[in-house]
Amino acid sequence: MNFEILSVGTELLLGQIVNTNARDISRMLSELGMNVYYTTVVGDNPDRLKEALKTAAGRADGVILTGGLGPTGDDLTKETVAEYCGLSCVMHQESRRRLIERFQKMNRPMPENNWKQAEMPEGCIVLDNDNGTAPGAIVEHGGKVFIMLPGPPREMVPMLREKVRPYLEQKADCVIHSRTLRVFGVGESAAEEQLKAIIDRQENPTIAPYAKTGEMELRLTAKAESVEQAEELLMPLETEVREILGDFVYAEGETATLQQTVVELLHERKLTVATAESCTGGLVAKKLTDVSGASNCFHCGFVTYSNEKKEELLGVSHDTLEKFGAVSQETALEMSRGARLRSGADIGVSMTGIAGPGGGTPHKPVGLVYISISAKDFHKAYRLQLAGDREMVRERTSLYVLDMIRRYLLGNLDADYVW
Ligand code: ATP
Repeated sequence: MNFEILSVGTELLLGQIVNTNARDISRMLSELGMNVYYTTVVGDNPDRLKEALKTAAGRADGVILTGGLGPTGDDLTKETVAEYCGLSCVMHQESRRRLIERFQKMNRPMPENNWKQAEMPEGCIVLDNDNGTAPGAIVEHGGKVFIMLPGPPREMVPMLREKVRPYLEQKADCVIHSRTLRVFGVGESAAEEQLKAIIDRQENPTIAPYAKTGEMELRLTAKAESVEQAEELLMPLETEVREILGDFVYAEGETATLQQTVVELLHERKLTVATAESCTGGLVAKKLTDVSGASNCFHCGFVTYSNEKKEELLGVSHDTLEKFGAVSQETALEMSRGARLRSGADIGVSMTGIAGPGGGTPHKPVGLVYISISAKDFHKAYRLQLAGDREMVRERTSLYVLDMIRRYLLGNLDADYVW
């Protein structure tokens, strides 16, 4: 089946919000093996909406519309679809009852115009909205399907997942299923080079690398009759890729992060970590504490921007700072040891560098960063030369530090390791 997505909302056209709904719908349709050839954004304008709907319905087997289901006069999606299909909108008693109940629960009087939200195209399948007031609707007409969903993503996404997906699964003749491998420490082109043989012969399943900030995502996708069959196709490919890339693959899953992997490993090994940050200003501590359950393994973070505080809080020696400077291997080493000893954590990590745009010299250019790790049996610092603006350098530094912890915990970090 071919689908088109019609996103309704002037805010989208003005660039005030990002069209995350279209992204989420496209993703789901592709997982179901359905094609999307066009996505259109149209403002809250009745004539242009009619025009866009006519065009989309003329080209596709189905149109999924988001937005414009609200109670106000410029919310016209249902009315426009109904008119296009030659249907009228009639009061849907169950939706009416749900609306009354919802307002009663909120202890708020219901504005008169809210009734409009319970008026649905006659004969449609009503999609209850458990997270808002506007129900969605599916109209099957003239061999085409029109699916109307609310605009707010916190209403749209659950409705898409829980109501639209099962409906469309019945119509799909195959599924497209993906597994995502998350890779750190090897660039996109180097990974492509290593995976060339697999990429060249790919058909079903396929493999696609996507570069992200400082890391890479490898998406393995299979087309099959069921998710289980797709998984069977994906398994040998995943094993092959993991054999080639080894420990550069740090996790599997679309939302997996390096910090989650680190926290899991710390938990498994019952170890704790403390951070000493200079150029990242607390970013590594923030990332680690983003992970729920981090309190058991994250001891504390020192943000020591000035030399005085590096001395006072971490015990970095005055001589080291004078002789080698704040951005140096020697300072990084003393910072990580200081973080560990002063906090009582099992592992101390540190980072000190020149994030830019100012502060660089020919000897110590912008992007030069030293990271270090200190444990009872291990104490090393590593030099990085990172590209990008201030934000990129800080972000990348934080990822390298997390990867350094991960590698140490896996027993794969040696003194000469080079990222
Ligand atoms: P409501 O019942 O809240 O009026 P609605 O179905 O009429 O919902 P809109 O009024 O078009 O939806 O949009 C409501 C809000 O939903 C927008 O202000 C915006 O924050 C968000 N939104 C709308 N469309 C999209 C989209 N395509 N992607 C992401 N967010 C969106």
